[in-house]
Amino acid sequence: MKYISTRGQVPAVSFLTAVEQGLAPDGGLYLPETLPDISTHLKRWEPLSYAELCAEFFAIFATDLERSVLNNLVGDAYTRFEHPEIAPLRHLSKDKAVLELFHGPTLAFKDFALQLLGNLYAQQIERTGRPISVLGATSGDTGAAAIHGLLGKAGVRTFILYPDGRVSPLQERQMTCTGAEDVFPLAIKGSFDDAQAALKTVFGDAAFAREVGLSAVNSINLARILAQSVYYIYAWFRLDPRMREEAVFVVPTGNFGNVLAGWLAAQMGLPIAGFRVATNQNDILHRLFQTGEYVVDAVAPSLAPSMDIQVASNFERFLYYMESGDSAKVRSVMEAFKSGGRFTFENFEKGNFSSTRTADAEIPEIIKRVYQDYNYVVDPHTACGFQETSDNAPVVVLATAHPAKFPDTIHTALGIEPRHASLEALKSVPIVKHHVQPTPQSIKAFMRAHQA
Ligand SMILES: *Cc1c(COP(=O)(O)O)cnc(C)c1O
Repeated sequence: MKYISTRGQVPAVSFLTAVEQGLAPDGGLYLPETLPDISTHLKRWEPLSYAELCAEFFAIFATDLERSVLNNLVGDAYTRFEHPEIAPLRHLSKDKAVLELFHGPTLAFKDFALQLLGNLYAQQIERTGRPISVLGATSGDTGAAAIHGLLGKAGVRTFILYPDGRVSPLQERQMTCTGAEDVFPLAIKGSFDDAQAALKTVFGDAAFAREVGLSAVNSINLARILAQSVYYIYAWFRLDPRMREEAVFVVPTGNFGNVLAGWLAAQMGLPIAGFRVATNQNDILHRLFQTGEYVVDAVAPSLAPSMDIQVASNFERFLYYMESGDSAKVRSVMEAFKSGGRFTFENFEKGNFSSTRTADAEIPEIIKRVYQDYNYVVDPHTACGFQETSDNAPVVVLATAHPAKFPDTIHTALGIEPRHASLEALKSVPIVKHHVQPTPQSIKAFMRAHQA
């Protein structure tokens, strides 16, 4: 299987090369040349454990990896999860289930992809002998998950930009209390979108990218998306047959990464009835699905900070399929959006997508309602997935983070403070962070000064 860029201006590459590069050199995002049909495998996959299922799924894509190597990389990636089922599906009522994606080392769903990505990088470095400098921007959870996925991988240096004072104190501790010498948390003055804009320019400098062996861990890396497709399949197997046919997967989202992973699994033949995109007050995606207009707005910091994003980078992958693989059209839409901050789709078809928006003030109320109705505590991101709608289809809500990561909001809502031992342990460890300007020059200078 080969991988092509959404912008169509570079040759197709192998799986490991697409993983190593993250962003394609023409500024596009990698996608499989063709989408495989997994529907014929479903029966055989149903009894598999999480790691076995993941290895089966990746074997279709990672055709440049021997199967035994793949099995080891995948097997190892899911050993640091604290729940034996890795992604347990919990039924709250006869038509409501939550898929708990917060049992990994940093207690958010991003561990699913980043624990595996760390192992894929290590494998690629072993093959090429080239070290990798990972550069990412985070609104909180990506940074922590990336750092913990890459920790201790020989040849990898990790640089993570985050908006100073706008990630939760515990998220910051997860990034800055590792004690690792090859991990550099970089606090910037500005928003996540400022960090992401500077990062895109750094990635656009091909000479610099070669010089430091630049790679992306943001959800522009295809391996992340594919790793997330696995838990949709796993969850679907665990629904009772009546729910399987009708269940809508509700996905708290910002960058469109998580929901795209599910949508791709559906395109490959997993019979999911629909997807509901659950945004917070930063609602560019909700507005898109309501109106067909994709219009950037200022980021308003919210109680669900990992979704405080306006420019959803993974939207470009979805666009590629909406435009039936016409990469010239993708380029012109992205260009128009970049220069004018908006794009209107003629005849926009939302297919089996629906969407909701949750205002910030509603988040504590929803946490309270869910607790009263089901005796279950959801984090502020997951709360957006419990927004009420007029649709009464059965739902699977993706629980994207552990509530203990956001104790203040839970305390406001419920008067209790959830705790988790791994977070408590961080509170006594010193913070180590660096300050850079959110400019390509400042970031490049820091990275050059901190090569091995
Ligand atoms: C990253 C994150 C999200 C948003 O994920 P997308 O890939 O942007 O859809 C939602 N919730 C939590 C807790 C996150 O960490």
